[in-house]
Amino acid sequence: MAGQKKLTVVISQHQGKNPVKRQLEEELAMACMMDPEVEVSIVPNLYDLSHDHSGMLFLQGIRGDVVVLAWLYPRATQWILDRSGVKGKAGTVFLVGDDEEDEDEEDASAEKYPDAIGTLNIPDRLIYSIDLRASTDPQEFLTEIRRIVQETSTETVDLMSWIQGEPKKEQLERYLNPREMLGIGNREAGSIAEVETEEQVRRRWYPVIDYDRCTNCMECIDFCLFGVYGVDALDRILVEAQDSCKKGCPACSRVCPENAIVFPQHKTPAIAGAAGEVAGLKIDLSQLFGGGDAIEMAARERDIELVRDGRDAVGLAVGIPKRQANACGVRDELDDLIDGLDDLDL
Ligand code: SF4
Ligand code: SF4
Repeated sequence: MAGQKKLTVVISQHQGKNPVKRQLEEELAMACMMDPEVEVSIVPNLYDLSHDHSGMLFLQGIRGDVVVLAWLYPRATQWILDRSGVKGKAGTVFLVGDDEEDEDEEDASAEKYPDAIGTLNIPDRLIYSIDLRASTDPQEFLTEIRRIVQETSTETVDLMSWIQGEPKKEQLERYLNPREMLGIGNREAGSIAEVETEEQVRRRWYPVIDYDRCTNCMECIDFCLFGVYGVDALDRILVEAQDSCKKGCPACSRVCPENAIVFPQHKTPAIAGAAGEVAGLKIDLSQLFGGGDAIEMAARERDIELVRDGRDAVGLAVGIPKRQANACGVRDELDDLIDGLDDLDL
């Protein structure tokens, strides 16, 4: 196999068992299996994988360019992978969803977030993140994958050399048979089922930091009273205790001045990692129309979780930067936007 040029394609499954989504995953996997220039694998939902799950170890072991298809905004996919040590430059993807169109995110980040601290130790390879919600037509994904195959020239490495560190014996065994990786061990040809992993994957909820936006201002670590954030050896912010985050709560994403905190499963695109922002402001549009303010909303959401934990609510008294606390009480950009919308008589 060594020397044969193949592109690794990884399909990250949807969290649920929606048959339409499963069918798309399976059709893509089957078609990729027929492509001699593609090596395809299926892993459980990326967001739910711990750093040492077999699926993530597999991703960590891929040296060359890789295409990752997931039910996530590409920005969310990129930074979930980065946090687990799966790093690379973002490859340009032409197949994008409606809310990602007309965004040149790479250029936009460099221009709009000049003070961002960026990520470290980026290898010279490309990661193409494709949102599986971008189309319902498998052919559109396959056309994009073929385009990327043409664009890249990845040398296939021996399978065993993909594995770094000291994986468990059972993890190694699974990688020795790609059909098992696809979960199609003894099934009839053409009927790919769910990946059969021995490791349980449960739904998780935690923030993901976009280091192409983050300025290391530390407002999130001050705001979060649940010990989720920490700093690394270089005093760079990181999500240290992912599973200490409160399920369903996106509070700190509303506080971050750079819109750098992503909750990939949140229903609001701007919070879930869509490339654009809402009217250039870090606000949740649904809250805007509900008359709320992003910071006050964040404080309320945090209070709910504090009370659930049997602690006292703190409102705006703790962890709110003065700049933002003041903004809650005085006329600001948000007020102007609301007035503007009123004038439009929507
Ligand atoms: S608040 Fe946002 S910009 Fe500031 S350190 Fe946290 S993630 Fe980075
Ligand atoms: S959502 Fe709440 S608990 Fe989770 S990291 Fe943000 S502030 Fe902390």
